[in-house]
Parts: sequence; structure tokens; C-alpha cells
Amino acid sequence: MSAAPGIIQVGPDNRLIVPDGVTVPFIEGDGVGPDIWKASVEVFNAAVAKAYRGKRSIHWIEVLAGEKGYAQTGQWLPEETLESFKKYRIGIKGPLGTPVGGGMRSLNVAIRQKLDLYACIRPVKYIPGVPSPLQEPEKVDMIVFRENVEDLYAGIEWPSGTPEAVKVIEFLAKELGQKIRPDSAIGIKPMSPFNSKRLIRKAIRWALDYHCPSVTLVHKGNILKFTEGAFRDWGYELAGDEFAGQTIGEANLPPDGNAGGKVVIKDRITDAMFQQILLRPDEYSVLAMPNLNGDYMSDALAAEIGGLGMAPGANVGDGLAVFEATHGSAPKYAGQDVINPGSVILSGVLMFDYLGWREASALIRTGIQRTIQAKIVTYDLARQLQGATRVRCSEFGRAIIENMK
Ligand code: NAP
Repeated sequence: MSAAPGIIQVGPDNRLIVPDGVTVPFIEGDGVGPDIWKASVEVFNAAVAKAYRGKRSIHWIEVLAGEKGYAQTGQWLPEETLESFKKYRIGIKGPLGTPVGGGMRSLNVAIRQKLDLYACIRPVKYIPGVPSPLQEPEKVDMIVFRENVEDLYAGIEWPSGTPEAVKVIEFLAKELGQKIRPDSAIGIKPMSPFNSKRLIRKAIRWALDYHCPSVTLVHKGNILKFTEGAFRDWGYELAGDEFAGQTIGEANLPPDGNAGGKVVIKDRITDAMFQQILLRPDEYSVLAMPNLNGDYMSDALAAEIGGLGMAPGANVGDGLAVFEATHGSAPKYAGQDVINPGSVILSGVLMFDYLGWREASALIRTGIQRTIQAKIVTYDLARQLQGATRVRCSEFGRAIIENMK
């Protein structure tokens, strides 16, 4: 089956069929988004040109969201943007701002939910030369699979004192005998076996495809028994039902700990896991976790490999993926050309891997590694690295291109 020009297709075996000239919609993003995008797209184009010498190319089309979307269309997240991601089955985005407390709901969360991008995948791998608070950062090589569409992020909540909150409180008292302070705000935490299992399935498949030793189910099930506790139980159930010959539960390992080539399924309580990633990171590989835990854990892990400027991510569904940095719009650095574009550039590396364009991703990885080893870095890494040459966002991008050679 050959692909229609410009549009990724999905084959009968669920594999992507990627044309040599692929169209990728992008959202520039708010705050530091425009600075970062400008630097990143130069790197992407240079890598593709160098790797494929005209045989492959990317056709970028800008789609709108956030402040630029609102200014140009009167909508924060225009329907055409979502339609474009759906049509081309791919996208990459800069950060979009969200007010805390009141105001509109997160556009980032809306994109994930509306496109059913149910897995947020965030690799956390140390690049030699990057400053890290750990003594042995080279031991950090994990990948977070964060459930991306439900949990407390479902957005079902009501402010304190509203008729809706009062109604829920009264219902809980009358029908279920639960007493809650009448002035409470209410938030709902839905977690389903359907969404948890498809996320965990993706994590286990990744571990099998990339020969990772273990998948750890990270949860707060000691307290939240029927949501986070069930996440753990659903994970073990799924591993037993669908991957019986390829996985083994940690509790079933023989005394010598030899998994016999199988992926070990283990689980850890979230608070303990925060300690584990600092003290024994090399004992962990693939981490699968509910939405909110995954959000917290991703930023903590980013700190171990150089901070938010170096932390890429992908929101992945079935036959559709939108790549984005872990960080937000960092408004205090907007328009100054100082921010680290590394996380969007590394998100592009993930995108090229997803497309199967491994020569392009390898070139960018090499470019980043050499640039950092030469201590040519943006402010965030320069302040942690003795003898560093501090460069602007755009200069960092250009240095990466130079170092691909
Ligand atoms: P943030 O934008 O992630 O920035 C927090 C801090 O992290 C920055 O002040 C900076 O620290 C550091 N940082 C972030 N990006 C960096 C980069 N590329 N290079 C170097 N350092 C970087 O978080 P926030 O200020 O809490 O959130 C701002 C807005 O972004 C909010 O509206 C939030 O809702 C939104 N947000 C969006 C996304 C998304 O688009 N997916 C994700 C998270 C937050 P220093 O000041 O110490 O240098």
C-alpha cells in the first residue's frame, strides 16, 4: 500500500505509512513559543536536508491556538486546528498558557482529550555534559507513560458555594451517607479500566519493542484504593491476560531475580517513587502512571537531566500523535530569545523516530550532544555549568545545526 502524498496513513497492521513528503501542522505557542519554534524548525529542516538530500521533506503548515488563535479568529482553540491534526495524523506544538484558578480550561488538556491522545510519553535520558543535581546522572534512562485523558484532569469540578457543588454535597450526604463540609469545592476523579489499560498496554508494548527490563505501575493506591489502587490491579491483570508469556510480576521472580528475558512488571506507591528516582534511578525503566502523578513525576525527572528546557514529550493516540515540550509558556522570558529550545527540539527527535526517519533524529541527537559537550548552552544550563558559553535561543539552535556535521 503506498501513501497519498503529504498525508500519513495507517496500514491494516496499525503501522504508519509515511510519505517522503510529509505535511506536519504546528502550533507556535504562547509566551516563549515563537522564539522556541523559530530555533527548532531550523534544526528540523537542516536535519532532514542533511539526512535525505531532497529525497524526504517536511511541509510545515501553521495552525492556530492560544493567544495567536484568539487574536486572529476569536477562538482559543479553533476547530480547524483539531481537524488539521486529525487529517494529517500528526502535529507539533509549542506551550499554551492557562490561567490558574478561574478563566478558561487548559488548551493543552483540551487538545489531548478532544483528539483522544490517551498516552503522554516522556523519555527522560541523561545527555552527557548536561548539569544535573544527581551524583550519577548517567543512571537516568526512564520513560514516563502518563494517562492523558481522565483522572482529576477530566475537568469535572465546581467552585465552593455554587449550586452545583452544594447539589453534589447534598447528594453524597443523602444517597451515600458521606459528610463533606458544605462550603467545599468539589472535583471528581474518574479512572476507568478502559483508559488505564490502553495506556499500560502501550507502556508494555514499548518495553517489549525496545527491550526495556521493566514496567513500573506508579500509583497512590494505598489511599485512593478504587482509582489509583485499581490502576495497579488493572495493570497486573492486563499483563497476565495479554502478555503472559512475555512479562513476569516482580513478586514471581525467582530468588536470583533472573527474569529470563521477560519484562518485569512491578508497582510502587507514588511518594516512595519520588525517592526512588533520586536514589536508585537505574532500577527503573518504563513508568506507567495516572494523569496527575505523571505530570508531577515528569517535571521532577526533568530536573535530573538538565531541567524543563531538556524534557520532550509526545501525546499519542491510535494513529495520531502531537509532540510537545513538557514545560509551559514561561511568560517572563517571552520575546527575549533566551529560552532553551531543547525540549521542543527533542520533541522533534521523538517525532522523527515516530515517523521512522531515524537518520534525522540521530543527526539532531548528535548535534545536541556535541553542542552541550562544547558547553555552548542557554542561560538555564549555563548557570549550572562552570566555564559555559551562554548563548541565545536562536544561537543554540544554530550551534546544534553546526554540530550535526
Ligand atoms: P513553565 O512555563 O514551564 O516555566 C516554569 C519555569 O521553568 C521557568 O520560569 C523556567 O525556570 C523553567 N523553564 C520552562 N521552560 C523552560 C525552557 N524552555 N528553558 C529553560 N527553562 C525553562 O511553567 P509555569 O510558569 O508554571 O507556566 C506558565 C504557563 O504555561 C501556565 O499558563 C501553564 O498553565 C502553562 N503550561 C503549559 C504547558 C503546555 O503547553 N503543555 C505545560 C505546563 C504549563 P527559571 O525561571 O528558573 O529559569
